[in-house]
Amino acid sequence: MTVVTRFAPSPTGFLHVGSARTALFNWLYARHHGGKFLLRLEDTDRKRSTEEAVSAIIDGLRWLNLDWDDGIVRQSERMERHAEVAQRLLKESKAYHCYCTPEELAEMRDAARERGSPVLYDGRWRYRDPSEAPTHVSPTVRIKSPLSGETVIKDHVQGTVTFANQQLDDMVLLRSDGTPTYMLSVVADDHDMGVTHVIRGDDHLNNAARQTILFQALGWTVPEFAHVPLIHGADGAKLSKRHGAVGVEAYREDGYLPEALRNYLVRLGWSHGDDELFTTEQAVEWFDLNHLGRGAARFDVDRLQNVNVHYIQRAQDDRLVEMIRDRLAKRCGRDLRDRDLERLKAAMPELKPRSKLIPELIENSLFIIHDRPIEIDEKAAKLLTLDAKSLLRDLAEVLETLEDWNQSTVETAIRGYVAEKEIKLGSVAQPLRAGLTGRTISPGIFEVLTILGKEESLGRMSDAVKA
Ligand code: GLU
Repeated sequence: MTVVTRFAPSPTGFLHVGSARTALFNWLYARHHGGKFLLRLEDTDRKRSTEEAVSAIIDGLRWLNLDWDDGIVRQSERMERHAEVAQRLLKESKAYHCYCTPEELAEMRDAARERGSPVLYDGRWRYRDPSEAPTHVSPTVRIKSPLSGETVIKDHVQGTVTFANQQLDDMVLLRSDGTPTYMLSVVADDHDMGVTHVIRGDDHLNNAARQTILFQALGWTVPEFAHVPLIHGADGAKLSKRHGAVGVEAYREDGYLPEALRNYLVRLGWSHGDDELFTTEQAVEWFDLNHLGRGAARFDVDRLQNVNVHYIQRAQDDRLVEMIRDRLAKRCGRDLRDRDLERLKAAMPELKPRSKLIPELIENSLFIIHDRPIEIDEKAAKLLTLDAKSLLRDLAEVLETLEDWNQSTVETAIRGYVAEKEIKLGSVAQPLRAGLTGRTISPGIFEVLTILGKEESLGRMSDAVKA
């Protein structure tokens, strides 16, 4: 059997990290088995579905590198097929027309509530003769649910879950305006798309029982289910906006790398021993349904950040430069020149370990592309005392004589200089850093000199001395 999974979001907002995790689990499971991962937009709620949300989902999946097979299925385009499935059930007497008015249904619901019964519909039109049908009411179509026995879900996460059929009333398949209900659409689509495994949030566990009844009525194979506990926030409540950013887009904007978010999300609710960091290949190789946790996983931004640090350090220098160039250009109000890009690339090995997130990397890179005279921040300016300036003037003369400008020659020259003057390296390095970067924190001073090159370094030193 070829494994076919699907991600079936309702495009009504941004791509929630919980949904992204659902997509990821489905993607991993399909890739692990060399099967298919399909994307279906459950956009039948025309009022709530927007094209903007569709784009957010697609962009988010692409950014996370979760590629889907075949074309995107739009549930709204399959309504005729859904209605056809309902008609088949009617023909086979497995479904019936229900002519209840909204008032009657409301009465039934109130009565059920009073009895404390989950059965909201009493099945009255299941037994009535259609000749009794009122002419002024457009009927709905309801399924004849089994009246006794049990519906059993063998869930990969929840174990065996048993529903008493008496508790499940005859659900509506087609509304009185002929439109299919969510339950019917999901079942018809999962069947037609050949879905073998449904991995989704455990908020759909009750739906699984109703969907199973429908699959069985149609004589279709019921897919395997894995209902994963929803992600919670640090306080143990379901992850929501209250906890901070919950959209994939927000993490992208905040400068997380897609592979970091992906790695973090795999571990939220699934485990492979104590492994925290793994490559996509490893995740694909190891992923299974047996190690999905039954308890709710907690979203922990600090942990995510640590994962991000790991991936930034491993990211290719070129890629990081590409990622930051537009935002850097915006920050300094001009396009980046080739020279800037070269310097940035050369600086990446030094900057990467100092940056947890992309915005931090941008901050740390700014000094490289500032035009002279560079802006010196307040803290850095305090380091440029008169004494410090005279040291820098002196040191500039020494550095001027260097013919070869590289990390080792500048280091030897500066160490030689402080030894001769019998001063500490810090007393030169601190003001030098202030003059070269305009800040008090930067990569190592020898690296900064090397990154900037001789001309720019000496130019900045001379600006600092004059300031
Ligand atoms: N459209 C549903 C949702 O976004 C998912 C339905 C399913 O996976 O069966 O929650």
